[in-house]
Amino acid sequence: EKERQQEASEVPRVTYSMIGGLSSQLDTIRETIELPLKHPELFKSYGIPAPRGVLLYGPPGTGKTLIGRAIANEVGAHMTVINGPEIMSKFYGETEARLRQIFAEASQRRPAIIFIDELDALCPKREGAQNKVEKRVVASLLTLMDGIGSEGHTGQLLVLGATNRPHALDPALRRPGRFDKELEVGVPGAAERADILQKLLRPMPCRLSEQEVLELAEVAHGYVGADLAAVCKEAGLHALRRASGTGPRLTDTEVMDVITVTLADLQQAMS
Ligand code: ATP
Repeated sequence: EKERQQEASEVPRVTYSMIGGLSSQLDTIRETIELPLKHPELFKSYGIPAPRGVLLYGPPGTGKTLIGRAIANEVGAHMTVINGPEIMSKFYGETEARLRQIFAEASQRRPAIIFIDELDALCPKREGAQNKVEKRVVASLLTLMDGIGSEGHTGQLLVLGATNRPHALDPALRRPGRFDKELEVGVPGAAERADILQKLLRPMPCRLSEQEVLELAEVAHGYVGADLAAVCKEAGLHALRRASGTGPRLTDTEVMDVITVTLADLQQAMS
């Protein structure tokens, strides 16, 4: 119970406007995921099966969890986040029971999203699976997903799986009716990095010109969203340290000037 409360309270409010560089993915999501969660009756009356599972794949730190949180927030859905390796080890031997419990709880809190991070750890290819536990876990997740919507609640429970190794997944998971929609969340290019930086810097006191942000994005080659978030945080801390060294006699305007994150702060954080 305590753990469940923790899961719910840890979910920060993420909106689509906080996500940078993923506009085409967000468009697809709005079309395919939001509609069934918001208006399941449409799918029901047209007899169209609503998606039960969507697979987000791409390298770590590119925003997969962020997307999940934004959808949940946008449609007012309950979201449970589970981590593949964690649930395998922490609940060793009782993973299937725990999965059943999570699905049952989510079903009671519809509309709901179950986000499974590092799905490949939970559901590796069965022929290569070393032990029986993994085979059983794959089988039980398949059964749980096949059961979604069977009590007439079509479209109100969605499983979002995230992985950076889509080919390591058991192929049965990617068949119709399971994770049958796949969305790549890849490494951002320079323009996407600039968009991510703009969004990360927005809540900070920072007056970088568009050109400066573009230049910064250009040199951040190979950085993903999580790396850029770390850079912005580091630059922010740097500015704050500067402010704490200035003594108490500054006016509010002067303080703002001192704590404003500069291009130099960001460049230093990146080097
Ligand atoms: P993992 O596979 O490691 O779980 P992930 O793809 O789920 O990674 P997130 O956890 O969503 O990545 O991203 C980590 C943090 O990096 C976010 O909380 C956010 O601060 C930042 N971030 C990542 N991608 C983006 C993005 N596209 N726009 C804005 N911020 C981002």
